[in-house]
Amino acid sequence: MFYSFINHRTNRIFVNLSTKTTMAGIYFHIPFCKTRCTYCDFYTQTDFSLQQDVVNAMLREIEIRKTYLSEEVETIYFGGGTPSTLSAADIKNLLNAVSSFFSVNEDAEITLEANPDDLSAGYLKELIKTGVNRLSIGIQSFDDLQLKAINRRHTARAALDSINVAHQTGIENMSIDLIFGLPGQSLESWKMQVDMAVKLRVQHISAYGLTYEQGTPLWHRMKSGKIIPTDDDTMIEMYNYLVETCSKSDFEHYEISNFAKPGHRSRHNSAYWKQRPYLGIGPAAHSYDGNSRQWNVSSNKKYCSFISENQPFFEKEILSLPDKYNDFVMVSMRTIEGIDLESLKNNFGEKLHDFCLQSAEKYIQDSKIVRKFNFLRLTPEGIHISDKIIADMMYV
Ligand code: SF4
Repeated sequence: MFYSFINHRTNRIFVNLSTKTTMAGIYFHIPFCKTRCTYCDFYTQTDFSLQQDVVNAMLREIEIRKTYLSEEVETIYFGGGTPSTLSAADIKNLLNAVSSFFSVNEDAEITLEANPDDLSAGYLKELIKTGVNRLSIGIQSFDDLQLKAINRRHTARAALDSINVAHQTGIENMSIDLIFGLPGQSLESWKMQVDMAVKLRVQHISAYGLTYEQGTPLWHRMKSGKIIPTDDDTMIEMYNYLVETCSKSDFEHYEISNFAKPGHRSRHNSAYWKQRPYLGIGPAAHSYDGNSRQWNVSSNKKYCSFISENQPFFEKEILSLPDKYNDFVMVSMRTIEGIDLESLKNNFGEKLHDFCLQSAEKYIQDSKIVRKFNFLRLTPEGIHISDKIIADMMYV
């Protein structure tokens, strides 16, 4: 389907271009949510009984993996799950541990994903003291019925209030997440939401088409005929309206699903897309060091016990050259810059460079890909079938 390419989130993409990088990122996976959204297939738990044990195990993991990154840490990202369920004291402890064992840039971007309901003035004031300087707020919709249809725990009012309170508290760097194609969401309703989003004083918007992930409650409802997914044509109209409106409002469309005011691209996600190394801490977190990727066990209980008993808590895969090439193509094609062919040739060799050009050729002829200044990038028409294009460009 068209919209599978604009899926839920992209912060677990793992690629390599070169190990000669000077900056790195750290990702914390906070696997707790107060309620479970019906579309979500991330590893997260609504039972908080192990939360403090998980935080303690994460503090220990930071020390265990202190040699994983040789580069300076430029970005730290608390994702999940719902990181705003952590106390400011726990966040501070985790950041202090990072500073103790890694070299952290003094201008580091430190992002916390938050649920609007958690952002009280008191909590935000404490958060600022920890060093968090960017919020990514999971708004998803400004319509209460749509929020209810996916079991979000906040209301539209709470979403708007959270942005206002964050401003009043002094947080000036904010991103919001929106989802289009929600059950019961018409094209007109989506347009109103986009219009509202661009008028808020936020610097970044991430907007994803709803995907029905197998096994989720939403998927079951769709399979049993209780929900009819939004048709592809409407999804395309929704996406086009988003792109046009963001562009008219000075948001740069720098990645398929991401829009930023000048100077406010997500540095953390941009580093993923530039194939920089990162360390993932916590249950189900992924790491990438330029030559391999690792993923921690997806169980809070096992994670805590493996760490405390000094047992292996992750699996690892060494990346072959084609693996790295495929990852490079997959993430580069999602960005506004596209594939840098010179860089591709230098890093992956002539054979894969030629393969890339050959596989792109028919799409260049069809105006779905444009080649300019030795870069290959998707055209607006190409974005609508980017899943297919990227799949065709994979080296098997
Ligand atoms: S808040 Fe986020 S991680 Fe938690 S259940 Fe909802 S979508 Fe999933």
